[in-house]
Amino acid sequence: MADKIINFSAIEKKWQKKWESEKAFLAKDNVKGKKKYYILEMYPYPSGSGLHMGHAFNYTIGDVQARLKRMQGYNVLYPMGYDSFGLPAENAAIKAKSHPKKFTEEAIKNYIRQQKELGLSYDWSRMIQSHKPEYYQWDQWIFLKMFERGLAYKKKAPVNWCGKCNTVLANEQVVNGKCWRHEDTEVEIKHLEQWFLKITDYADELYEGLNKLDGWPDFIKTLQRNWIGKSEGTEVDFLVDGNPWRVFTTRVDTLFGVTFLVVSAQHPELMSLVTNDKKKEVENFLKKIRSTKEEDMDKLSKEGVFTGSYAIHPLTGKKIPVWTGNFVVADYGSGMVMGVPAHDERDFEFAKKYGLEIKQVIRQSFGEAKEDEEKRFTISAVVQRKSDKKFLYLKWKEFGWVAPVIGGIDGNETPESAAEREVFEETGYKAKAVGKLGLPFEAHFYADNKKVWRHRIDQPILLELISDNPEKLNKEESSMHEVSWLSREEVAKLTTHSYNLIGIERFFEGEKAFTGFGTLVNSEGFDGLKSSEAKEHIINALEMKKLGRKKTAFRIRDWLVSRQRFWGCPIPIIYCDECGTVPVPEKDLPVKLPDNVKFEGVESPLKKDEKFLKVKCPKCGKNGKRETNTLDGFMDSSWYFLRYCDPKNDKKIFNSKKVKYWAPVDQYIGGKEHATGHLIYFRFFTKFLRDMGLLEFDEPVLNLFNQGMLHAYDGQKMSKSKGNVVLPESVSKKFGIDAARMFLVSDGSPDKDFNWSDKGTEGSLRFILKVINFVSTFKSGKMDKLKESKLHKIIKEYTSNLDDFNYNIAVIKIRELFDVLEEGCDRKSLEIFLKMLSPICPHVAEELWSKIGKKEFVSLEKWPEYDGKKIDIELEKKADAVDKTIEDVKNILKIMRERNGGEGKRIYIYVLPNEKAFYDEKKLGERLGRGVWVYAVNDPKKHDPEGKSKKVKPGRPGIYIE
Ligand SMILES: [Zn+2]
Ligand SMILES: [Zn+2]
Repeated sequence: MADKIINFSAIEKKWQKKWESEKAFLAKDNVKGKKKYYILEMYPYPSGSGLHMGHAFNYTIGDVQARLKRMQGYNVLYPMGYDSFGLPAENAAIKAKSHPKKFTEEAIKNYIRQQKELGLSYDWSRMIQSHKPEYYQWDQWIFLKMFERGLAYKKKAPVNWCGKCNTVLANEQVVNGKCWRHEDTEVEIKHLEQWFLKITDYADELYEGLNKLDGWPDFIKTLQRNWIGKSEGTEVDFLVDGNPWRVFTTRVDTLFGVTFLVVSAQHPELMSLVTNDKKKEVENFLKKIRSTKEEDMDKLSKEGVFTGSYAIHPLTGKKIPVWTGNFVVADYGSGMVMGVPAHDERDFEFAKKYGLEIKQVIRQSFGEAKEDEEKRFTISAVVQRKSDKKFLYLKWKEFGWVAPVIGGIDGNETPESAAEREVFEETGYKAKAVGKLGLPFEAHFYADNKKVWRHRIDQPILLELISDNPEKLNKEESSMHEVSWLSREEVAKLTTHSYNLIGIERFFEGEKAFTGFGTLVNSEGFDGLKSSEAKEHIINALEMKKLGRKKTAFRIRDWLVSRQRFWGCPIPIIYCDECGTVPVPEKDLPVKLPDNVKFEGVESPLKKDEKFLKVKCPKCGKNGKRETNTLDGFMDSSWYFLRYCDPKNDKKIFNSKKVKYWAPVDQYIGGKEHATGHLIYFRFFTKFLRDMGLLEFDEPVLNLFNQGMLHAYDGQKMSKSKGNVVLPESVSKKFGIDAARMFLVSDGSPDKDFNWSDKGTEGSLRFILKVINFVSTFKSGKMDKLKESKLHKIIKEYTSNLDDFNYNIAVIKIRELFDVLEEGCDRKSLEIFLKMLSPICPHVAEELWSKIGKKEFVSLEKWPEYDGKKIDIELEKKADAVDKTIEDVKNILKIMRERNGGEGKRIYIYVLPNEKAFYDEKKLGERLGRGVWVYAVNDPKKHDPEGKSKKVKPGRPGIYIE
């Protein structure tokens, strides 16, 4: 193969060196006459195993874009750095009894080498590494600024605790509820003081700000909206032993339906509610559920246990039992929720399981109430015949409608006995009531037959036939209606009022809560009000008693940032017996992680490092102790994009002017798995730094692109353990990195998942070899109108494909362009082609660019612009018609060969006079290898023995072969 002849590796090395030594991709601040463009990929965690092709895919997407923008004349900032604090390096250090810094810095070196080998056009001079004190001192600085403003604070929070390790475990260290090191030891939940950042102060702005992010994918914005979870509702106080417990609800109209309260099993005050006789039971319950992660709570079956305490209902004054349950999150509102089983699915399930009262307070309602309406209590009957599963209905002769048996409840009747009587009277069938189908509903309607407005309150009843044979009806009844047995499908098609189908709907749905709005019942003075009006009245009543108020609630909770780990940024706090919690003075930053520590177990060595621990209190000068927790790594990544604008500043976090020039990020590229983590946190930090007067914008990123994932050959996630990892080094050796880059962006759309394929990469390689061969033997030829048209059309389309990340379509276009030029083109067109090739195949493009005598980098050339006047769609259409005609001729020749073994030798083509110019006899003859004659249909001298010219249409010539 030709790749033996072409030494891709040498070409790649040569250009990578040149780009670096000539500082080709260095971003200069404030370049006059150029618009800035800041493009960024999420900075990676440098794992010990290095990059695989999946990572390469991510970076190639960004690099193609950065290269394009640079050539389009933007002043491009395209930096790279490393999110270098984290658990894996610490775990590796524990195993090797070494320092995580050693592993991290080796891994970074390896990453840089690999990324350079991919030909990525980063500005390496701006590299940041979050484990370096010159970076993380600014984490500490931000923390102190937040502390000053009350946005960093300490409170008790549940943490995972291993009794054998005698330490807190990170979530990742809890495996199936057990300690990762002690498989026989269950992890306990302990409530310890933890540091939090008050992201909730920005909840509303984070929520509303999403509306401005037009350049973000909708699904990410939806995920964030749900995560922030803004809802308008009511806060209600339930008193337990005189202490108010605040409960948030969006359905205060159901307040009278509260039959129990549930407090989170992780609530720090839970045990204060538990009575002595219930202690054992509650403790056993907590043991059972303590290892459940909050994220999994929704999937659990709802479980709970009674605490022994009762709360006082704020409006009825009744005692409501307080339970604890596994489905309530500790920090949502107050960590207590009200249980309204008649009108909430989850509460219904819970009440059924534990035999709690279900009290209907919202009646399903149809129509609007009328002043002179007649109130009536009725039943509607659901009767199914066992033999054919059909249902009993009445067809009314006078009105033409079909309806179930409906009737009033008389005197002392129960709804059940009324139903039995009505079914018998109206149909002659004897049936036995089995039970109620849910709770009553109501309908306001005009009764045509009686000419009155009705307010009907109806209880659907399920009945069973006692006999399949009806008794004869009296004449009066049978003259009005007849019995009709309908299948479920037939019932569904009935054109009756929807409330007439409630009974049968409930029959199929089974028992459940009614969660819609309706009319209040069993709600004391609020009965008869609609849900929407009732809400207002109930809130008023609560406000008068000072036991409730309107509230906007958010689902998002404050961000727990303290980690009981070594390999992170130290929290700049000192504890003093006299002064309490004292922030480290700014001038003493950074608080450095010690270099000479040994890991002896899981516990952070900071806890035993006297040199680190012991410190004078900055306030009183007495002996104090440092905080040993470190900051969550997501804090590093919450502002790193700003540091790239001014990475070497040792006086300030950054120079605001430089940040003003570069930021916000124009294009951000990264995985969607960060939707509700990093992608919210960095919005929060941006708003905080803005409030400090350091930034003049609100949002960190204008446009967000989420790339898909590259899987292995087998469609599985690439992983070392599966042995299916594809490494850039081996791909590069086999195909050259440009072929790999081309394959990566050509197979499917870059936001979709796809599989690695050697075959696909071979295809790209074949194309590259053809290009190399063409340029190496290039002889300047001529461009005709058609070629010019195609060239300019493709420049136009290719550019917008690249701009829009439709890289796969772009690759098709550039291959198309090559097919056009390969037939012969001038030097200028060849140059255009090489420029266009360069973002995707930068090394080969540079090599060929220099081969045609150019001294500058093609990577820094001006991007070709199309000339709209040269695009001639009509001409291209006609050219396509010629191609199609050639195909047709070939097909006819093939058929002739197969039918009689003969070879057609002379080909006659008939075209409309205005199309004749496109059919060049000589060229057609060359392409078909035979004599070709082209005639206009009106040519009197044409050779046309079979009259083929008579059927010619625009773009569809006639063909005759002899
Ligand atoms: Zn343990
Ligand atoms: Zn002190």
